[in-house]
Amino acid sequence: MWLAAREPTTIVSADSRQVYRQFDVGTAKPTATERAAVPHRGIDVVDPTERYSAAAWAESAEGWIGEAYAAGTTPIVVGGTGLYLKALFDGLFEEPPLDCPRCPRLAAFRHELQGKYPTWNNAPVRSFGGLDAGLLIVGLAPGMKGANRTGRPFTGDYAGDLLYHSLLKFGFAVGSYAAHAADGLELRRARITNAVRCVPPQNKPETAEIGACGRFLAAELETAPRLKAILALGAIAHNAVLAAKGLKRARYPFGHGALHELPDGTALADSYHCSRLNTNTGRLTTDMFEAVIAKLTERLDADRAQPPSPTTTNGAQ
Ligand code: SF4
Repeated sequence: MWLAAREPTTIVSADSRQVYRQFDVGTAKPTATERAAVPHRGIDVVDPTERYSAAAWAESAEGWIGEAYAAGTTPIVVGGTGLYLKALFDGLFEEPPLDCPRCPRLAAFRHELQGKYPTWNNAPVRSFGGLDAGLLIVGLAPGMKGANRTGRPFTGDYAGDLLYHSLLKFGFAVGSYAAHAADGLELRRARITNAVRCVPPQNKPETAEIGACGRFLAAELETAPRLKAILALGAIAHNAVLAAKGLKRARYPFGHGALHELPDGTALADSYHCSRLNTNTGRLTTDMFEAVIAKLTERLDADRAQPPSPTTTNGAQ
């Protein structure tokens, strides 16, 4: 039987399609009659061009959860975005506010860009992909005309071309990448974030800014329930992950191609950042990048019968 058919439940999701994907329990698929019998609330079509849509979802879901309790039912939050919402409501997950003041220099730069380019995102860029992903990809910071403009990590500038095409090739994404947030691309088993959520001038965040934004990266890492691997794009992202996990850099040195087994059982893989500079200079080629993704794919697919030990393999500085 379908789970929700047995219990007085209201299912809450940011995307109603997830209701049927997530609660298809056992071999039985819900019939149309069963589906109609299950109380659920959600947004059937999410407009990815809607600015700050995550906040809008959270606001809607809060109302739905209240309605569910008022109706004497137990709200269950489902789906990748649902897990994100659940974590928000459980107080486990902290997103930066859209006017985050923690980095005065970056806040001033955002305000300057808001005046110059009012149609751009110009706010902390939210992570992309479900919080239940097995792989978290961590970049440096939004590019000014990329993620800062489009509101989606690695979207709209050159760095996204290599990253998203590789994710599509290895099955971590479906759809097609068209360099804008409304291209319909969906991630599978993967989530993308940045060590620094706001665009820095000249793409160079300061040390204090990386530290200030670390709390949000730590929230990502602590909350993700199925996280098995992290891909750090560049040494700054690598070090930010270690700092968020309270680990020492000396024990886990950055190196393109390195795969570090961390004490909590997750793997930390390193790649040079897929920036235009790195690819134009030949520091990072498509083959080099895809080799890292292939290694991560193997890692994620492996049956880990033995708990991993804290070692480092196959790194190149
Ligand atoms: S970079 Fe992070 S901590 Fe700094 S202002 Fe932006 S969201 Fe806040």
